[in-house]
Amino acid sequence: MTAFCPDYYSEFSCAMGGCPESCCKAGWEIPIDRESYEFYKAVGVDIDENSYICEDGDRVFRLRDDRSCVYLSDGGLCELYIKTGGRQCEICAKYPRFFEEYPDFTEAGLSLSCPVAEKIILREKGFSYENIAKKSEDRFLDFLLYNRFRAMKMIFAETEPDSAASKLLGFGEDLQELVDYDELGRADEVGFEPAEPFSADEMAAARRFIAKKTEVLDPKWRELLLEGHAHAGSADERRNYLLYLTFRYFPKALDTEDIAAQCGFILLLYQLAGSLSRDFEGAVRHIAKEIGHNAENYKAVRGIIG
Ligand code: SF4
Repeated sequence: MTAFCPDYYSEFSCAMGGCPESCCKAGWEIPIDRESYEFYKAVGVDIDENSYICEDGDRVFRLRDDRSCVYLSDGGLCELYIKTGGRQCEICAKYPRFFEEYPDFTEAGLSLSCPVAEKIILREKGFSYENIAKKSEDRFLDFLLYNRFRAMKMIFAETEPDSAASKLLGFGEDLQELVDYDELGRADEVGFEPAEPFSADEMAAARRFIAKKTEVLDPKWRELLLEGHAHAGSADERRNYLLYLTFRYFPKALDTEDIAAQCGFILLLYQLAGSLSRDFEGAVRHIAKEIGHNAENYKAVRGIIG
């Protein structure tokens, strides 16, 4: 099966003890895969004492009161990694990489929840859209990939990312008409007419909904949502964020065949990052941690759009 990834993918290298916002302190329940668990038991690591079976039935690492992983050392390194000569469970070894499986290819990327990945994508390397999937044997997915590529080219060329975000929404709405009338072959007739972004009142209502109706990992996240202030970030950061969101979430319309709503969701996350009371890149990391890594939260926030 072919695999695609944006060309910043290979730039990542974990900051380990020097990480300013370690994933080991994010408060995530990290499932330990069976093979790693058996390995830890076999080499005599105290894994049973330091893990438990969570509500989903997975064995996960214990967390301390400050939400850090029980194996995180004072120096910011993983004690389990040190004790076993470098053996990490599957999820820890992959993070911050993510993989999206489609019918005839896999797409990989880096999560913006990691500060090193976020810096590479938003501020250093930027987002290149060339090395991503553009074709599929599946008719609807092929339509999505073709139009994702067009949308990303438009965002890249547009000098003002807020205007590109409005055009993305209009594009999604017009494409949706083709989907509804089964006229996928007419995609090239659809241009980039801007649609109205979310108003300040709509964004405030969305923030209140997220604060009250989703599972909140970090109490600071709820405070940020309820306070709400604008920290827009630079045009380059905003453009790279919009490109990233389009890359990651546009093809997810495959599940619902609702491109208009999927573009609405992208616009919502884009505007959310600019409406929180912390620096733009910090807001982006929070959004990725709280919504991007939690399937239930993703569903709830996507449900705001309908
Ligand atoms: S957040 Fe990223 S850089 Fe920091 S410890 Fe985790 S993987 Fe490494």
